[in-house]
Amino acid sequence: MAKHYDVLILGAGMVGIGAALHIQARGRSVAVIDKHTMAGEETSFGNAGLIERSSIFPYMFPRELGPLLRYALNLAPEAHYHLSALPGLASWLLRYWMNSSPAGALRSAKAALPLIERSLSEHEALMQASGSMHLLAHSGWMKLCRSQASFDKAVADAQKLIPYGRAFDVLDGKGVQAREPALRGTFAGGVHLRDPGVVKDPGGLAKAYAALFLTRGGEMRTADARALTQETDGWSLQTHAGPIQARDVVVALGPWSDKVYGPLGYKIPMAVKRGYHMHYAPAEGAVLNVPVLDVEGGYVLAPMLRGIRLTTGAEFAKRDAPPTPVQLEQTEPMAREIFPLGARLDAKPWMGARPCLPDMLPVIGPAPRHRGLWFDFGHQHHGFTLGPVTGRLMADLVTGAEPFTDPTPYAVTRF
Ligand SMILES: Cc1cc2nc3c(=O)[nH]c(=O)nc-3n(C[C@H](O)[C@H](O)[C@H](O)COP(=O)(O)OP(=O)(O)OC[C@H]3O[C@@H](n4cnc5c(N)ncnc54)[C@H](O)[C@@H]3O)c2cc1C
Repeated sequence: MAKHYDVLILGAGMVGIGAALHIQARGRSVAVIDKHTMAGEETSFGNAGLIERSSIFPYMFPRELGPLLRYALNLAPEAHYHLSALPGLASWLLRYWMNSSPAGALRSAKAALPLIERSLSEHEALMQASGSMHLLAHSGWMKLCRSQASFDKAVADAQKLIPYGRAFDVLDGKGVQAREPALRGTFAGGVHLRDPGVVKDPGGLAKAYAALFLTRGGEMRTADARALTQETDGWSLQTHAGPIQARDVVVALGPWSDKVYGPLGYKIPMAVKRGYHMHYAPAEGAVLNVPVLDVEGGYVLAPMLRGIRLTTGAEFAKRDAPPTPVQLEQTEPMAREIFPLGARLDAKPWMGARPCLPDMLPVIGPAPRHRGLWFDFGHQHHGFTLGPVTGRLMADLVTGAEPFTDPTPYAVTRF
């Protein structure tokens, strides 16, 4: 006999757990399904932990000749591609390029703004409720610029944030040194973005939210989401602990969402930008106060509970191709130049995949051809940031409430 719930959430990453908590708060019975026994074991575990309230402008494809040439020659540490992946990625890359025009980038930024605006406060509410405020620092993060040209660009980019009320400090080389005394090397300057939140254990935060969901009466089940089946009056799934059913299902499988929407006949232009991380012991008792982005290196160093985490930029490759952490090998020496890193702490580099639509906006809303099926994926570089706030929007939509923001820009029908 199948156990019945109002809503099944497929995927226990930050996005799925965010949706589960908000739908549960509307009085619905909810079960979360994952292939792992615990939440936050995949992409939501390995990121840089930034709650990106200052990322008003999404990561668009560069249009200047210099970066394009470096990308084409696979020389840029912030981006790497597999030649074998290019044929499959060509049409997605073309759409990404087209959406990266100044007008397209502005359109995406305006569409994402209502989500970005509430991203930190939605996290804070869940952190308060789950007793995990200690994982958050209101420290912001810093862009470090080795050259005057990149410093000028970082300052110009920061100035674009002024109309949106974001705060930042422009620092010369001495100012950078004063703020982060353990940094070494010569910097033209830095920009310290003050509004983002910083989380010292992203996977731990997802687990704290999942624990809150369980305490409030939710259930987590281990299952392969690919076994989802449509019934006359809803959906069913075989889990390790028996069959379950629900009227509504939310697909929140991050980079694996195609495993469910693909067989149901949806063609959605989602690709992944893979990324890696490695932890290091700080050498000589060095302290890094806030995460730093080495602009020329395209990597982030972030202080985490486990050590200093180096996260790499984007790798354009097939999601399931074997890991090729060349960007980690390229950037580790650069990171060692600017900060006293000790031994590697992980046996091998962690790899994850940012699920990306070509306009850098997520897909949130109903699946047009299947009653009771909902999409909530494609959160690109900002899924850790946006999980709770898009969870609220998903709850509005699933329960038929007035959505807190117009969901049209996130509808799958835009493709
Ligand atoms: C290197 C790197 C750095 C990043 N830094 C940041 C950052 O600082 N800030 C930020 O906001 N974002 C960052 N991101 C992006 C962010 O991590 C992702 O957008 C976000 O984690 C996506 O969350 P999700 O819940 O959609 O996916 P996931 O966290 O991947 O969750 C999907 C879940 O689906 C489950 N699953 C998959 N297949 C199946 C199946 N067949 N059956 C059952 N379960 C299944 C998985 O086990 C997983 O738990 C970064 C990403 C990378 C790679």
